[in-house]
Amino acid sequence: MRFRAASLPAAAAVSIVLLASNGAGAQSADPVSARISAQSLRGHLSFLASDLLEGRATPSRGQDLAAEYIAAQFRRAGLEPAGNDGYFQVSDWKYAERDMSQFAFTVQAGGKTLSVPASAVDLRVREAVSLKDAAVVTMPWLEAMKDAARADGKLLVLSMPADRRAAYEDLRKFTGKPALLVLVDGSRTQGSAANGWLVEEGPPRPRDAMRSVVLYDAPAAAALSAGNATVTLNVPGPVERAVKLRNVVGVLRGSDPKLKDTYVMLTSHYDHLGIRNGDIYNGANDDGSGTVSVIEIASSLAAQKTRPRRSIVFMTFFGEELGLVGSRYYGKHPVFPIKDTVADINLEQIGRTDDSEGARVNAANLTGFDYTSISATLQRAGKKVGVKLVKHPVNSDRYFAQSDNQSLADAGVPAHTLSVAYEFPDYHGKDDDWDKIDYENMARIDRMVALGLLDIANSGKAPAWSAVPNAAKYLEAAKKLK
Ligand SMILES: [Zn+2]
Repeated sequence: MRFRAASLPAAAAVSIVLLASNGAGAQSADPVSARISAQSLRGHLSFLASDLLEGRATPSRGQDLAAEYIAAQFRRAGLEPAGNDGYFQVSDWKYAERDMSQFAFTVQAGGKTLSVPASAVDLRVREAVSLKDAAVVTMPWLEAMKDAARADGKLLVLSMPADRRAAYEDLRKFTGKPALLVLVDGSRTQGSAANGWLVEEGPPRPRDAMRSVVLYDAPAAAALSAGNATVTLNVPGPVERAVKLRNVVGVLRGSDPKLKDTYVMLTSHYDHLGIRNGDIYNGANDDGSGTVSVIEIASSLAAQKTRPRRSIVFMTFFGEELGLVGSRYYGKHPVFPIKDTVADINLEQIGRTDDSEGARVNAANLTGFDYTSISATLQRAGKKVGVKLVKHPVNSDRYFAQSDNQSLADAGVPAHTLSVAYEFPDYHGKDDDWDKIDYENMARIDRMVALGLLDIANSGKAPAWSAVPNAAKYLEAAKKLK
């Protein structure tokens, strides 16, 4: 709450100035904007980000409840169901999980035995591990990177350097083959408590390729680095079970005889992190905000007297937090032909205005700002409702591949993610709650998005990739669709 209190006066002042400069009533002048309200957004989000939904982890009952709620709102709006089971695009997965009550990690040193709790580790190893009184090899980081083979077959303990990003780069190139790697990380005291994963085909992700345990327990770390320590470790193996996961999808059918078979998408992810170490991670801004905006914009556009010329697809994805899993599934199993999909606007984190870089009101960022013609369309729409669409100097390009737009961009569809704040207090924290959202601002952002979507849907000219180096591979993918 403290961040909210600090940013409110400034936020209020800025919005008054902008409204005045746009003329009174600018925000409710058109019928699409008039049907988008802060109050409605607040109502939806107070449910989706409530404790009852337990953080909407993939997979969980809380997530299933969220999916049912979103489907109910699509039904209320009058969208046509577009999944293989009503509004649900259901997919079958295997979920692997280990029984952490069987986890044991002890360090024996200097006649003492220290026990490490499960909450103080992250396990980057998929299979069972069983070590009894294993001797430990410790080395300084740089030495280990140079002399990788020295600890082959042994239990290697390394202290993570302060620059985590560089350290993980080093590890990607590390050629040693220790029996197990223990990475001591002094920057935190608790792990992510994520002990389950979706079983996916293909090779393991880079950071899981090397068997490692990240250790956050300071006393155990000290005992390990003092030398002459031994380790006893039991990591239980995973047990797999079948799960069903759901993207939620509805369509507002277009009116033009030809253009109605082309599609403009509005997307968000409705999953979040679930419960960790006993705390519920409600994910109100990430990405409850995008999800309720998809609902609200769908409801406004479906209520208009005239249908858009192209069809508009409204969709919320599961599994973004696990690595864009739901949108990648859609990319491989599209409901509407990719070659006829002309654009995707993905919404992420559009409710919080207390950006870590300073208050951000009546403004939004777009990833890949220079990559397609969509930014110009959204900018025009923003002018009508007093919102500025801007390019973040660094994060616009850096974050292009970090959200669900990527799954469609890879297939060649002009696709962006729109956000108000990229970084905000409580990001991926337990206090990302619905009462910290700036609903009036979110409503204005949604009006811009709705008008922009409509502009794309009514234009005979489809958005196109620009000839900029960073967009070259997407432009190539788009050419292949023709
Ligand atoms: Zn997110």
